[in-house]
Amino acid sequence: MKITILGSGGSGGVPLINGFWGRCNSNNPKNRRRRVSVLIQIKDDNILIDTSPDLRQQLLDARISKIDYILYTHDHADHTHGIDDLRFLERPIGKKAFPCYGSSQTISSLKQRFPYAFKQKEASAVTQEALYEPLLDPVSIKDDFIISNNIFIQSFQQGHGPNFESTGYRIGGFAYSTDTNFLSTAALDKLKNLDIWIVDCLSWKQHITHAHVDQVLSWVQQIRPKRILLTHLSTQLDYDELKAYCPAEVEPAYDGLEIVL
Ligand SMILES: [Zn+2]
Ligand SMILES: [Zn+2]
Repeated sequence: MKITILGSGGSGGVPLINGFWGRCNSNNPKNRRRRVSVLIQIKDDNILIDTSPDLRQQLLDARISKIDYILYTHDHADHTHGIDDLRFLERPIGKKAFPCYGSSQTISSLKQRFPYAFKQKEASAVTQEALYEPLLDPVSIKDDFIISNNIFIQSFQQGHGPNFESTGYRIGGFAYSTDTNFLSTAALDKLKNLDIWIVDCLSWKQHITHAHVDQVLSWVQQIRPKRILLTHLSTQLDYDELKAYCPAEVEPAYDGLEIVL
């Protein structure tokens, strides 16, 4: 399994669109962050988690032109608004649409917000043939599921603020927990014995919808993954400053980082 960090930034990226770098040293390339997303490659399958607004440039840089599966964590704009760029990618073998997985809440929200991506809509007046094929083939998931020949994926719900949830995913020794500030005992149970955990860490200070540094470190004490990468990093979190603060097994993610498990 190969994991590529496509984006490690908060919802506005770093720098923000107005050029604001916050506490981040603009001379360190590891502080230049696109919106959060990861690519997982298992044998010939390319699995994309979320379609960030930076998807086009992320896949160009990773030299990826084929996606086989998409896993959605939730429907927020910074995780979904690159959806339209999927049109130009190679479909999985034998399929016209990209299989995409998410909680029933996420899938129904995506269908409402991007209806054209799920339905064959307009027909040509002359030939009556569809002008637009559906882009996505949605699957609502709960708990565990299998994709491809034998890729076993565990999913679990995570609190993302007081009234909302995101979905975390685990494949083998890898797990991804973006956009969360509350992990239930059941979720933490699924996160035991990890080789690598990529986890939300938005800020130094407590936040209403995201994890902050000390909260992540307390989760790490409970589940003790071998290696922890912090993601969804805001302009408050400078790479070197954050790395110096954390224990050796915990480090900030950065765009383009590749891990082979
Ligand atoms: Zn987000
Ligand atoms: Zn979110």
